[in-house]
Amino acid sequence: MERTIFERIIACEIPATIEYEDADIIAIRDIAPAAPVHVLIIPKRVITSVDALAESDTDLVGRVFLVARDLARKYGIAENGYRVVTNCNADGGQTVFHLHFHLLGGEPLGRMNSASMSHVPAVASTALVRSTTLRDIVIVLAVTIGLAIGFNAMNPKAIAWIKPEFERQTATQTDIDKYLAPSTPAPSQPKEVIQQTPAQEQSATPLTTNAKPTAGASALPSPQPLADASTKVAPEQTFTSEPGVVREITYDMFVRLYQGSKNYLIDARGADKFAQGHINGAVNYYGGEVQSRIPDLLANVPRDRVILIYCDGGECELSHHVADVLKQFGYGPVFIYTGGWAEWTSKRK
Ligand code: AMP
Repeated sequence: MERTIFERIIACEIPATIEYEDADIIAIRDIAPAAPVHVLIIPKRVITSVDALAESDTDLVGRVFLVARDLARKYGIAENGYRVVTNCNADGGQTVFHLHFHLLGGEPLGRMNSASMSHVPAVASTALVRSTTLRDIVIVLAVTIGLAIGFNAMNPKAIAWIKPEFERQTATQTDIDKYLAPSTPAPSQPKEVIQQTPAQEQSATPLTTNAKPTAGASALPSPQPLADASTKVAPEQTFTSEPGVVREITYDMFVRLYQGSKNYLIDARGADKFAQGHINGAVNYYGGEVQSRIPDLLANVPRDRVILIYCDGGECELSHHVADVLKQFGYGPVFIYTGGWAEWTSKRK
């Protein structure tokens, strides 16, 4: 059976905000909170749902509730009140089949049969959910609007008002210098670049892009490959300084960051174009499908990197789509190389 997202979080393969952990239980922030406080309390051992509990799990489940109590006190919601629920199987609304308990609070949650409840517990049977005709209409409308928003969010040409867009700025040299290792050479002139021999091109690699060069990769030509690996340490970087900004960069700026920063290079074009050729070290996250690849992104894109993104060049819609998603998940400096693949290849002619 395929491992659930929670098993991968417990194994530290996927990042999560951990609120509590001991040998048997972990509590993490819910990625899509349904209330101001929304924490998932998860027994580490794989138990698919309440229905799979055994007598011997009595102590474990009891401890889950004590963790919920302590967390509620920690968040200051104990006095006003909160809810601890678990969804069981399809009709219970369970989507992740690894037993977990939702701790919800921080606002009045309404009654258990409220139409606004997004986490109806297993014990909330039809007796508790008696819908009126009006409520049915509201639910149908809400689902329709939700689907429309979801579809829009996945569309690279989405309507901006419901797609988070971060401020686009043109980067300055100062923005670039912040993230460069002290020894990074000045940008190469395009003319010099064109004159590099294949052997020199081979020797040039980005500082710390973690992807391996692949077939179709176009290496960066550099007149002076950086010094040996022990000196390739980018300065300490502050990733909290620009929460809402995505910066656009020129070819020269891109070359400097690519060579001299601790970076992660993303090619936002489609897989077919990527296979035909891409910049050495790039990893392919197609902008048009990036929403569906969020778990993969979170698992594989290191948080301590300067993010460099390119696509075909021009409007850079695909790159901006990937950038917006990364910024939503709190990634650090994000730069878009606006010349993209078109300029990159023309510089190399
Ligand atoms: P349920 O629908 O009761 O199975 O609850 C599953 C919960 O897991 C939902 O509230 C999701 O928002 C949450 N969830 C899914 N993926 C993640 C993740 N990577 N990190 C944190 N919470 C997640």
